[in-house]
Amino acid sequence: MDLAFTPEEQAFREEIRSWVRANLPEDIAHKVRNDLHLTREDMQRWAKILGKKGWLGYGWPKEFGGPGWSAVQKHLFEEECALAGTPRIVPFGPVMVAPVIMAYGTPEQHQRFLPGIASGEVWWSQGYSEPGSGSDLASVKTRAERVGDKYIVNGQKTWTTLGQYGEWIFCLVRTSNEGKPQTGISFLLVDMKSPGVTVRPIKLLDGSHEVNEVFFDNVQVPADQLIGEENKGWTYAKHLLSHERTNIADVNRAKRELERLKRIAKTEGVWEDQRFRDQIALLEIDVIALEMLVLRVLSAMKSGKNPLDIAGLLKIKGSEIQQRYSELMMLAAGPYALPYIQEAMEAGYQGDFPGNVLGNAPLAATYFNMRKTTIYGGSNEVQRNIVAQTVLG
Ligand SMILES: Cc1cc2nc3c(=O)[nH]c(=O)nc-3n(C[C@H](O)[C@H](O)[C@H](O)COP(=O)(O)OP(=O)(O)OC[C@H]3O[C@@H](n4cnc5c(N)ncnc54)[C@H](O)[C@@H]3O)c2cc1C
Repeated sequence: MDLAFTPEEQAFREEIRSWVRANLPEDIAHKVRNDLHLTREDMQRWAKILGKKGWLGYGWPKEFGGPGWSAVQKHLFEEECALAGTPRIVPFGPVMVAPVIMAYGTPEQHQRFLPGIASGEVWWSQGYSEPGSGSDLASVKTRAERVGDKYIVNGQKTWTTLGQYGEWIFCLVRTSNEGKPQTGISFLLVDMKSPGVTVRPIKLLDGSHEVNEVFFDNVQVPADQLIGEENKGWTYAKHLLSHERTNIADVNRAKRELERLKRIAKTEGVWEDQRFRDQIALLEIDVIALEMLVLRVLSAMKSGKNPLDIAGLLKIKGSEIQQRYSELMMLAAGPYALPYIQEAMEAGYQGDFPGNVLGNAPLAATYFNMRKTTIYGGSNEVQRNIVAQTVLG
């Protein structure tokens, strides 16, 4: 197993690094590096810059307008973006629904939906979870009834991330109650501006508006917005979930945040505390172990081997690491992490209030926000069940 990058891969990294550094707006990078609130405009501005270069769909094959990069090149791109402080690519369009449209959509659907995703113009949301159907996703109840050349959709989705900005939503809907629950699900693309779609905010522990409830009340959806075959949506949904879980691991962001944790610990003086340093060292070991795991997968893919299906494992380790660094940052900042200061979440905030030398007021909010990571994308308990089944049979 060879974990080293080739000279060509190193050169590719350099190319990405200099392009990202030259094109990433400094005001956006500042917000990302200091964990300040990113507006829709911030996220979409960066998405469009990438889109113009042809890199928003960085995982896409050439035939669909992507760069056709290898798994290693994709990894290097993600790493350089994270280290430079780019916003995370909002995954619902380019990372989640696009591969499903490519794999199972018609040529007309490719032409209709992929360009808007590749350019960053169209904002997508994910409509999987419902009240009572999260881990048990196959029990979704939102109903889509075929009437002529339309589906009439009724029901509710929940926890819809950034759905307040959504223009389109991909939904799992029930089209049949026959047989096993999985066999009656279809995959439908819905225009969120359609009459009968209502989006309501859910406020999170950190005070932010990140997730929503989405209601469908007799929403008419043209039948040509069904992906693949009716009642086969479960197969397409699973294709998408493995992309989501690998993406959530985000080892590159963990590397950047580890360095930020060290800076905070040094400035706040807790770096001198051996026991606190031990905690940072343990975290660093886990980050390196996660990176090794990612590199092993890449190495296996490079040599044509089929790597173990470890998306669940990456999700568990990555999400736990995210929670640990957010906790250690909060502990390192001590009382300065505690106050909830609205200004600290606002654009342009520089951390400039008395006593807050680091601009670290959002740390408590970040700590609260990170509690989500072991729940979303399939809870870690459920991932452990999947890993156990894969490994133990
Ligand atoms: C911040 C955030 C953003 C999200 N964004 C989206 C989104 O954009 N789109 C979307 O569709 N969904 C989204 N989700 C929903 C997410 O996928 C679900 O919350 C998740 O799958 C868990 O489902 P649940 O909330 O219904 O919890 P439940 O399934 O009710 O689980 C409750 C608890 O029971 C445990 N549990 C359940 N079943 C088992 C089992 N078989 N074995 C062991 N333990 C079990 C779980 O681990 C959990 O601790 C988001 C969630 C959060 C928190």
